[in-house]
Amino acid sequence: MPIYEYACSVCGHAFEHLARTLDDKPVKCPACGAKKLAKQFSTFAPATATPKACGDCAAAPSCPASRMGGCGCG
Ligand SMILES: [Zn+2]
Repeated sequence: MPIYEYACSVCGHAFEHLARTLDDKPVKCPACGAKKLAKQFSTFAPATATPKACGDCAAAPSCPASRMGGCGCG
């Protein structure tokens, strides 16, 4: 189950929400009760994230790791 980060548009309170289904969203801010919530991008990489692409690496065209789906050179 993915954990999403939300921030309250009213008071700025940031919190995490465990989504049990795709449509599971927090109803209101746990701090102030406002219903204006903005979904945040997670600041940390989940353990299940795909490996970093090799796009920024100068050796990308020849990097064997990039063909394996991840880059070990940058
Ligand atoms: Zn709030």
